[in-house]
Amino acid sequence: MEIKIVGVIGCGQMGRGIAEVCARHGYQTTVTDVSQELLDSGIQLIDRSLTVAAKRGKMTEQDKDTTLSRLHHTLNIGDFGDCDLVIEAAVENLEEKKKVFAKLDEVCPSHTVLASNTSCLSVLDMAMSTKRPDHVIGMHFFNPVPVMKLVEIVKTIVSSDETVNTGRSFAETLEKTVILAQDSPGFIVNRLLMPYLLGAVRMLEAGVASKEDIDQGMVLGCNHPMGPLTLLDYIGLDTSYFIACAMYEEFKDPLYAPPILVKKMVAAGHLGRKSGKGFFDYK
Ligand code: NAD
Repeated sequence: MEIKIVGVIGCGQMGRGIAEVCARHGYQTTVTDVSQELLDSGIQLIDRSLTVAAKRGKMTEQDKDTTLSRLHHTLNIGDFGDCDLVIEAAVENLEEKKKVFAKLDEVCPSHTVLASNTSCLSVLDMAMSTKRPDHVIGMHFFNPVPVMKLVEIVKTIVSSDETVNTGRSFAETLEKTVILAQDSPGFIVNRLLMPYLLGAVRMLEAGVASKEDIDQGMVLGCNHPMGPLTLLDYIGLDTSYFIACAMYEEFKDPLYAPPILVKKMVAAGHLGRKSGKGFFDYK
């Protein structure tokens, strides 16, 4: 199926990255969030990201203007009625996502593919809140979306092959490499990544080493581009906490249990880069 018009739910770190990349690759793209303030600040950050890309010679000023002209924003989910594909990138909460999918099912035409950018939650549960479960897949982008090359396509037991193929082809038009995973908590990447990241926090809690040395160890010892605590700040401590809770709930494996320190940091509003403070300071 040919995709021409894309909708994006949520204009946070991931939603705005997805919207930017879709508009850059020629798609008419509409993005929404829960308030005008969040939407305005998300659009401003997309504008800034495009300005940086133009300054670095990755696009012309004219490409930037054309990209911005393809980008639309609305507070009314009813405006998603002409979308061929909607990618949900709202908060990592299953009940919230199910509500979004049920609403999208009401407003979108029957051919529209509905995709979730969830990090670990059950795509099947989202699919079953619609009357088109065969048209629902996971489409898991990585942060920052304009830079990271991977998309995990998640197939539920009821996703049709046509929907999976449409998702794959679409992601490839965004110049992403696609890997396919079954609808199992955390899919491929987060199933492997989360125990490692949470293990770094437990190591800090146990006083094994300082946060700087834990990160330095993995950067210089394993050639990772950033250490685990810096990466958690980048993902967002709130999102990381939600992911850990959901994966622990499913697997009951202590490797996925959210460390108390992360819970406390979220309660204190230390969410990482997005709040200016996490394990490290970003002010
Ligand atoms: P975020 O907190 O930066 O942004 C989420 C946005 O969704 C917020 O602006 C919020 O106001 C908005 N939102 C919440 N409920 C909404 C609704 N009902 N309708 C419209 N907007 C709504 O979080 P994020 O990091 O962008 O994560 C979004 C999703 O992407 C989550 O499912 C997360 O697990 C997933 N994800 C995150 C990362 C990462 O590194 N942060 C990577 C891959 C996937």
